[in-house]
Amino acid sequence: MTLRSQPKLELHLHLEGAAPPAFIRGLAREKHEDIGGIFDERGHYSYTDFWHFLKVYEVATSVLRSPEDYRRLTLAVLEESAAQGVIYSETFLSPDFCGGRDLSAWRDYLAAIEDAAREAEATMGITLRAIVTPIRHFGPEKARETARCAAETAGRFVTGFGIAGDEKVLEPKDYLWSFDCAREAGLGITAHAGEWRGPDHIRATLRDLKPSRIGHGVRAIEDLALVDELAETGTVLEVCPGSNIALGLYPDWRKHPIGQLHHRGVKVTVSTDDPPFFHTTMTREWDRLADAFDWDQGVFDTLNRTALDAAFCDAETKAEIAKKLEPAR
Ligand SMILES: [Zn+2]
Repeated sequence: MTLRSQPKLELHLHLEGAAPPAFIRGLAREKHEDIGGIFDERGHYSYTDFWHFLKVYEVATSVLRSPEDYRRLTLAVLEESAAQGVIYSETFLSPDFCGGRDLSAWRDYLAAIEDAAREAEATMGITLRAIVTPIRHFGPEKARETARCAAETAGRFVTGFGIAGDEKVLEPKDYLWSFDCAREAGLGITAHAGEWRGPDHIRATLRDLKPSRIGHGVRAIEDLALVDELAETGTVLEVCPGSNIALGLYPDWRKHPIGQLHHRGVKVTVSTDDPPFFHTTMTREWDRLADAFDWDQGVFDTLNRTALDAAFCDAETKAEIAKKLEPAR
């Protein structure tokens, strides 16, 4: 069995960031918008550094403006994921981009996305759940509005709450109200930390927001006491090695800390973050990790089991996904 055909779970995927370039080009063409400058000659997203990446990301996602756009986006993204063997995926969604944090507009976007998810589940065998994320650099006040949207729509599909955006601005404690609101609504909690800031920021995030999962968290490796703490508490890291390497956090796969984190007993999972922007897929992540760390089938089975345990979906959904993993073991 090849790595590509094996069932995989992915916990850290930004829906807009997973938009296939051909889909975005097609949507721009329909809307008579010229965004040609963001692609290379092969049609891939093209950027020179992190700041340029943010600009290209913004231009690409600017064509997504209606629930119908998001319905089609969701189908296009899930088609790509399913082709890589992904059977369960959790995606970040933001009411900031889906309806401008207006609850009734958010419900319309969500209905369209959920509709696409149901279709993909029936036709491609992939299950999708959503994690609502405020955008950190938009500030705590807007995050409150986002948290209200999340709490009002929490249920079988909206199962988690997180925070994305520029990690370097503001502090975790500025978002206490939003995270408390989400937790009270029964949502699972995760937060991006330890990508652009170091161990202290991971500690502050754990202390103030009390997440069961950390988005990235890889810079914990700079403080081995923190690594031990993560291992002891069973905090799950949503590690996105290809993303970290593409954005220059680590020079190559062998130097990526995921090998060491796993070795030291931290519960790690593997995801793609914004796959077409980082020219990666779940299969490529697994392939590179197998090469860099000599990871065998047993390790990939552990990654899947860790992801399933840490998933924010309900028990019934977990049982269904567990059944799909059985034959691979
Ligand atoms: Zn991310």
